[in-house]
Amino acid sequence: MKVDLLIRNGRVIDPSQNLSGHYDLAIREGRIVGLYEKGKTTDDQGMYLESQETIEAEGYVVTPGLIDLHAHVFPTKTSLGVAADRVGVEQGVTTVVDAGSVGLWSFDAFLEEAVHPSVTRVLAFLNISGDGLCTGGGELADMSRLTPREAVALIRKQPIVRGIKARMSGSVVKQNGLQPLLVAKEAAREAGVPMMVHIGNAPPKLTEILPLLDQGDVVTHAFHGKKGGMFDERGELIPEAQDALERGVLLDIGHGEASFSFQTLRHAQAQGITPHVISTDVHQRNIDGPVHSLTHTLTKFLAMGYALDEVIAASTYAPARILGLENEIGTLKVGACADVSILQLKKERTILTDSEQETVETKERVVAYQAITSGRVLTCK
Ligand SMILES: [Zn+2]
Repeated sequence: MKVDLLIRNGRVIDPSQNLSGHYDLAIREGRIVGLYEKGKTTDDQGMYLESQETIEAEGYVVTPGLIDLHAHVFPTKTSLGVAADRVGVEQGVTTVVDAGSVGLWSFDAFLEEAVHPSVTRVLAFLNISGDGLCTGGGELADMSRLTPREAVALIRKQPIVRGIKARMSGSVVKQNGLQPLLVAKEAAREAGVPMMVHIGNAPPKLTEILPLLDQGDVVTHAFHGKKGGMFDERGELIPEAQDALERGVLLDIGHGEASFSFQTLRHAQAQGITPHVISTDVHQRNIDGPVHSLTHTLTKFLAMGYALDEVIAASTYAPARILGLENEIGTLKVGACADVSILQLKKERTILTDSEQETVETKERVVAYQAITSGRVLTCK
């Protein structure tokens, strides 16, 4: 058998298969066709595998293509958007999920201007407001702008939409309280997709939001440092959050400019609570700090004591399952799409800053080296 690409001798971490060790990875026609232990890279006849192209990955970490579950990549219609490839393949991320920049009314433009021109795979959580973020925010303040029925119809015919986004904070919903969430939920359940719910400043209160979320729904900005979050003043998990976790509600980082706090994470760690997904909420106003990139965000979790395998799981397999695409992406299983990230762990002193201006120092950071999307190799910037 001749393959298109062989990635040799890398330290492969694939949490979808509980795999962590040195393997060779073979790719043909945009698909993973083999994963081999050292010295066993042969075909069925025992012949050494021939390859068109080889990447020598000794000293690198080879993972399923990284997935950023929360980003903003609609620069032509929103002021905070950045180009998908800038936060995607150029930074070692093969899939970015736009979290609510786009609503129904700008969906065609999103396809044309953000999805199709990008090398990075671009998916979306559709904003339950037809406006999305294209009018600059406050998109759930007028209930007549919500488009639940049309959202369900779109999700049924458009596979890039993987869920519905609702931003449940005071500045977005104004006097509408929980109403937009109820509308979003009904649409999401009808379409059979998860909701991603942004939490921030009340109203509505988090204690009212959480009981409305079901198994598989995602709370983004779950580890923010504002008042009224997942943990009370003493750092204890609030009972509504405990119940939500027991029901299977998932916690996403969604770092952003104002939504991730090391101190909140310490409270979580003290109670054995681990974020399910690590995402950036990267956009124009935080890309130059404190967020920078997904790999920079992963570095923060290594610095806070998480294992490399854990942070890779939270940025590959976990988001892929939420997207319902775990057999295609976020995995290096034979037959899956050949989306691969090649990363480096650089010994380098770095100061890491959260959204509350707290800093943590680290001696090792994750740096993107190459991204492979559907078998195509790109070198990161
Ligand atoms: Zn966001």
